[in-house]
Formats: sequence, C-alpha cells, structure tokens
Amino acid sequence: MAVTYSSEPCPRCGISYSAVEIMPPTTVLASQGCWGGFNQILANEYSDPARMAIHHLTVDAYMAQHPGDIRDRFTLSAFNSHLLALYFNREFGVGQVELRKIRAEIAAKSAQHGAWLSPPASLLGISFESLLAAENSDEHRAAVVVWADCIWHCWEPRKMELAKLAAAYGLER
Ligand SMILES: [Zn+2]
Repeated sequence: MAVTYSSEPCPRCGISYSAVEIMPPTTVLASQGCWGGFNQILANEYSDPARMAIHHLTVDAYMAQHPGDIRDRFTLSAFNSHLLALYFNREFGVGQVELRKIRAEIAAKSAQHGAWLSPPASLLGISFESLLAAENSDEHRAAVVVWADCIWHCWEPRKMELAKLAAAYGLER
C-alpha cells in the first residue's frame, strides 16, 4: 500500500501533521494527516498495556477537540459522550469504570437531550506530537495528561454550559 503524507492543516486543531493519511469516520472532523497521526497513537496504546491504561483519556480529549458534523444525531451523541467524560474526569476526578456507564448512558439517549457546544477557538494549535514522541509508557501517560489538560483548559471556562448539558442527560453532580 502506498504511504502518503499530508501537509494540509487540520480544520479542528489547525496542525499540519506529516503522518500517514487515513480518512476519518463521520463522527470526527480532522485532516487525514491528523487522523493518521492519532491512529498511530492508538496503535501504540493497543500494543502496550501500560500505555493502554490511559486510552480513554486519549480518546475523550481527541474527540473533544475534533467533533464531526453535528447535524447527524449519532455524531452529536458521540461528541457529547466524550466531552462530558472529559468534563467529569478532569473536573470531578470521576474514574473510568463510572465514565464507561456515563458514556453509554449518553449514547443510549437521543440527541434531543443534548445541545451542541461549538468548540472554543483556543483549541486551535494544541498538538499531540508529544504523545508520538514519548519513548516509554511513563512518558506516554504523562504526555497524555498534559495534552488532555490543555484541551480541558479550553473547555473549562464553559463549565456552566457543560453542567447544563450533563443535566440534560440526567447526569447531575
Ligand atoms: Zn486535528
């Protein structure tokens, strides 16, 4: 298979990644280079249990930065499940066992429960290069936390809206 490289800036994060291009699914809006780089990160996690330990935060953070076309109800539920999982984890320290239930609960509810919060402009320019550069699982997990916190800090000023969104799904805290 031919390997291609992308210099197109990603419409969500604004970064041009020189990664293998992969077409993202409809639930994600990203350049093919960005999605290709993210898939490399996922492959690193799937092949190493110590990296996999933080997999859910990796996915929630990426999805909170790269929502797809929200006119699609499935995409809106998927986006809100990841965004609210990031919110509950970073704001309240909710662990992965409970977050799995929260994500499933949101996914099971129709999109009419949840509003669409458009991504903050400050999300532009936050890159996952440090995750690709990590040389071992400790570095990887530390890099995921720093990167996910950068993404969370962009959403953090909108905590009130996030609390309302969570309430719309019956997930008050
Ligand atoms: Zn991107």
